[in-house]
Amino acid sequence: MLRRLTMNAPRKPPNYLAGYSPDLIAQIQPLITAGTLGQHIRRRYPEVHAVRTDRALYDYVGELKSRYLRSAEPLAKVAYEPRLQLVHQALGTHTTVARVQGGKLKAKREIRVASLFKDAPAEFLRMIVVHELAHLKEREHAKPFYALCCHMEPAYHQLEFDTRLWLTALALEGDGGDAASPRAAADDTSPRDKG
Ligand SMILES: [Zn+2]
Repeated sequence: MLRRLTMNAPRKPPNYLAGYSPDLIAQIQPLITAGTLGQHIRRRYPEVHAVRTDRALYDYVGELKSRYLRSAEPLAKVAYEPRLQLVHQALGTHTTVARVQGGKLKAKREIRVASLFKDAPAEFLRMIVVHELAHLKEREHAKPFYALCCHMEPAYHQLEFDTRLWLTALALEGDGGDAASPRAAADDTSPRDKG
């Protein structure tokens, strides 16, 4: 209910940069003020990707998984999620859906990526997929988690920061990235997240 009410409040871009140092944020503030942050990011990351469908995303995730996380349990589902808005710190979701099958409780691992990543620079899709894959092994956003991310993508930290800049730019441009739906509760750190 609170979310529904806040929908009508003056729109304020979500703070995708929380947790980064004020010095770092001060460096990009002029771009935000000038309204050129999006342009700046798109110029630095001109490469688009061809991962446009759930099938293509499944293959893309599967390839990375077989290269780096062969021993992790198989993924029951990989999909783009149109309703997944990027609120708070959420960049995607990784859930374990528990189902009773033949009298046994079976956990099914799923990865969902917000649909707006269809139009993200190639490097940002890679970053979000690496992030969600790392959760197959490490649940918490702690040192071992980030070590695994960097193992899969050495530029992980730079790419996460730049992805957050891109999301900030999209929110400022009014093109998604805001909590536009009451279903926008998919938060990486929410209790339903068992990844
Ligand atoms: Zn996470």
